[in-house]
Amino acid sequence: MPNVKKYFEGAELVDELKGWRLLGSTEVQKNYVRGALFVGDACSQAECAHFYGIPAGMISGRSAAELLDDIFTTGDDSEESWARFHKIIGDKLNPQYEFYSAFRNLVHKDINNVNRMNEYAKTFPGTPIYSIVMYKFVTEILGEKMPMPPAEGERLSQ
Ligand SMILES: Cc1cc2nc3c(=O)[nH]c(=O)nc-3n(C[C@H](O)[C@H](O)[C@H](O)COP(=O)(O)OP(=O)(O)OC[C@H]3O[C@@H](n4cnc5c(N)ncnc54)[C@H](O)[C@@H]3O)c2cc1C
Repeated sequence: MPNVKKYFEGAELVDELKGWRLLGSTEVQKNYVRGALFVGDACSQAECAHFYGIPAGMISGRSAAELLDDIFTTGDDSEESWARFHKIIGDKLNPQYEFYSAFRNLVHKDINNVNRMNEYAKTFPGTPIYSIVMYKFVTEILGEKMPMPPAEGERLSQ
């Protein structure tokens, strides 16, 4: 990469090369304490294989602003008031995590299934809705059960 090379001139490897697997959340973690709300990567909201981290961070950020507005307006600063954030975000994101993590477990862990899924997707005309193809592959081809894809307009990935 000639454009990048200049920035590494004189650089030395200081330790062995390492890699980490990206996290893949399966449910919304505890995202509040009394006095603070946590959004995005700060509470492990990234989903490594399908919708990644930006949508969940933005959705949570917007909801956090709405809830803070409510807390400041009503003056209800109780633990229960802050705890509403966990349910609000869980209702929005948990169906997404459940669908995509089920697919990861059933398909991504086996390269043969990944290849079969890719070939299966090509049998659909045009540009199919990917999550419907995912669902059909798991239920009709693998004969396994998984949650329905989140509704159109709510899905954070295709
Ligand atoms: C290489 C890479 C590629 C990615 N590609 C995608 C993608 O294609 N699509 C996608 O959806 N997601 C992608 N992600 C994930 C996405 O970038 C993150 O999930 C998202 O940025 C998280 O947003 P956030 O606001 O939670 O955290 P951040 O974007 O990390 O924001 C946190 C901010 O807090 C600041 N900060 C930290 N500590 C302090 C402190 N003590 N005081 C003040 N400020 C502080 C940081 O400087 C930072 O600006 C990618 C991530 C990486 C690393």
